[in-house]
Amino acid sequence: MKVLKFGGTSVGSSENINRVISILENHGKTDAVVCVVSAVGGITDKLLLTGKQAQNKDISYKDTLNLIKDIHFSIINELNLGTGENITKVVDNEFQELEDLLNGIYLINELSPKTSDKLVSFGEKLSSFIIAETMKNRGLSADRKNSQELVVTNSNFTKAEVDFKITNANIQDYFKTAVQNITILPGFVSKSKLGEQTTLGRGGSDFTAAIVAAALKVDQLEIWTDVSGMYTTNPKMVKQAYPISKISYQEAMELSHFGAKVLYPPTVQPVLSLGIPIHIKNTMEPEAVGTVISNEIVEESTPVKGISNISNIALLTLQGSGMVGIPGFSKRLFETLSQEKINVIMTTQASSEHSICLGIDEKEADSAKTAIDAAFENEIALEKIDPIFVETGLSIIALVGDKMKNHQGISGKMFSTLGKNNINIRAIAQGASEKNISAVIAESDVKKALNTLHEQFFESKTKQLNVFITGVGNVGERLVEQIKQQKKYLKENLKINLRVAGLSNSRKMIFNEEGINLKNWKDQLEDGEQATLKGFFENTKALNLRNSIFVDVTANADVANLYANYLRQSIGVVACNKIACSSDFKNYKLLKELSLKYNAPYLFETNVGAGLPIIDTLNNLIASGDKVNSIQAVLSGSLNFVFNNFTDQTKFYDVVKKAGAEGYTEPDPRIDLSGVDVARKILILARESGVEMNLEDIENTSFLSEAGLKSDSVDDFYQTLIADEAHYQKLYASAKANNCQLKYVAQFNDGKASVGLQEIPEGHPFYNLEGSDNIVMFYTQRYPKQPMIIKGAGAGADVTASGLFADIIRIGND
Ligand code: ADP
Ligand code: ASP
Ligand code: MG
Repeated sequence: MKVLKFGGTSVGSSENINRVISILENHGKTDAVVCVVSAVGGITDKLLLTGKQAQNKDISYKDTLNLIKDIHFSIINELNLGTGENITKVVDNEFQELEDLLNGIYLINELSPKTSDKLVSFGEKLSSFIIAETMKNRGLSADRKNSQELVVTNSNFTKAEVDFKITNANIQDYFKTAVQNITILPGFVSKSKLGEQTTLGRGGSDFTAAIVAAALKVDQLEIWTDVSGMYTTNPKMVKQAYPISKISYQEAMELSHFGAKVLYPPTVQPVLSLGIPIHIKNTMEPEAVGTVISNEIVEESTPVKGISNISNIALLTLQGSGMVGIPGFSKRLFETLSQEKINVIMTTQASSEHSICLGIDEKEADSAKTAIDAAFENEIALEKIDPIFVETGLSIIALVGDKMKNHQGISGKMFSTLGKNNINIRAIAQGASEKNISAVIAESDVKKALNTLHEQFFESKTKQLNVFITGVGNVGERLVEQIKQQKKYLKENLKINLRVAGLSNSRKMIFNEEGINLKNWKDQLEDGEQATLKGFFENTKALNLRNSIFVDVTANADVANLYANYLRQSIGVVACNKIACSSDFKNYKLLKELSLKYNAPYLFETNVGAGLPIIDTLNNLIASGDKVNSIQAVLSGSLNFVFNNFTDQTKFYDVVKKAGAEGYTEPDPRIDLSGVDVARKILILARESGVEMNLEDIENTSFLSEAGLKSDSVDDFYQTLIADEAHYQKLYASAKANNCQLKYVAQFNDGKASVGLQEIPEGHPFYNLEGSDNIVMFYTQRYPKQPMIIKGAGAGADVTASGLFADIIRIGND
């Protein structure tokens, strides 16, 4: 004999009931089958709602009742019961009884736990009746037995305790004489010894099935539900969760105790001692293997088997100096809660004995506080302890696994993973058996926590990165295109799942928690909401995704001013915007400190030499203990372009104009030509070498004419270039006479930095720099004579985008 239990979704529509019947038919061919059913999906909640409405004198209880009726009758109609007159009559009678009960609740304005149990019992009684009648109608050897006549409990309404002796005898007696092949039983419902209707607690149909399975000592208990087994974590919260094929009773119990709703926690108890395996299967996908819960030791088992969570937790903290060293406080605390029938889900006690923390259901927080404050009234009055402190809006997450105790460092890994993602832990508990480690965190962090822990313990090979890009002009657009193109490669070769979760230009912004589809991102952005810098930050923060990275592809100071906000949320920052790094030293230092404190990378490789790995190389030199003696560099693609094209055959004005048109200069060419841009770059290199320096400390000898320096608009500036052509030709002539090339050079030496135009003689590494190439020579303790040289294209949208891309990948590889 086999026991199969079908949950709410499995019997939630005529289509699904037909699936259930065909599964039962298959099983029933070879063996007698017991089938335990839940109420039609959602009905228990609706019954409770109508009860509450009636109790509150809210007449809409009648609408809810009608909805419940409609759901059942449309299932009956769709099941084509043909000669269903008799069936309709029985169901009508049931609904009449239900309506009378609700009218009574409405009249007396009261809904006791006893009446509540009577009310919810209609759900399972109806579903079991409809299914049994359908089967009979189709000529199957089936019948229904009301489990209220079998399962006997105490009068602890809403979660009654089973009297196993009487119950087992009832079940055995009944099945001794039952003639039908398939027996349908309502789950969840029971009766007390006094004959009152009771229930086994929410989710209790699983328990009914286990009780029957144990009483009949069957070979296997099957729990058929709407997912393909017990998953590594709740599949509705973590897309990457997958079914666990084999799991021990203990692990399954821990996971369900900590919120894996797929199995009602007491279910394991009756079958455990008899060694009856529980097989969890998916009604919608019967061919999926599902999960087997048993005593079998799984050799290849990973130390962490699953992660679960319980929402709506309140944390109670009892603390006070009067508790130290005095025994009995926790005993009294637990006794008080037990008298109030309040279930303690987890406890922690600080080793100082100065405080005890308890996690309980949020709904019971008020009554717990009242009871505890009353119980410790004296101590509170004497200020030995504080009134109990209650925090709500919390959730417990738990890692579960039989083998965790044999592995060092799992809790460390758990907490550092959470910490890296800025998830604050309020309390920690480790079960004495070391089969679970649980932590209390804010409810708003649960999804992120489950995903990041799942990634850490179950998908260690892939890492999801969520980027939020602001500024999708020339460079930003290339970056998005590069991400689109490389997505597959990154996943397959680097195990990085790179997703663009937010995009913004100066007008519009869009977000998608699942990653924006990059196929038509431009159209989507056009239809996006109005962009603001603050709004972009707030949305990014609210999404609260793990491994979030803000990418600044603007040259905007207001954007740079928000980096600190991002870092404080543990959101990494990747920027090609140089403003923050070249701002006041205090600000640069603050950002570096925030990056360390919040474990959020702050990378800006493209600030110097676009995509060339200049800062990364410098960082690696310093990290490995080298010291920079001096830096010689040509760091301006724009100025290189200008001086490579300027001769006595061209006009300075034309060359600068051309550089602008080809995208080599900033929209305001003065930023490049004044040397400010180069000064910022050498400043950043000096700072990254470990020197405290500000922009004013850099000597900047300008080659511009007096009028050029003083111009107060871009147009005005261009006019001075025409007027002062002779000034610029003189610079060229002098270099030519000396057989030199003009290069704009940045230097850092002995803690001092300067920028300026220089005549570079033939043979010098700078002499042959072409186009917009950059070059940097690091003279260090390890490279004292022959410098470490990095040379290549130092400007342009594509190389800058690939530099940003490289920073993002650096974070992914971390
Ligand atoms: P039924 O009505 O069939 O008893 P439940 O809704 O009670 O179904 O339980 C199944 C649900 O449990 C799943 O749909 C899923 O949302 C939830 N769940 C939570 N944690 C897990 C987990 N670790 N594995 C599988 N399902 C889980
Ligand atoms: N129908 C009950 C509930 O929703 C019992 C069950 O489905 O297991 O809690
Ligand atoms: Mg259930």
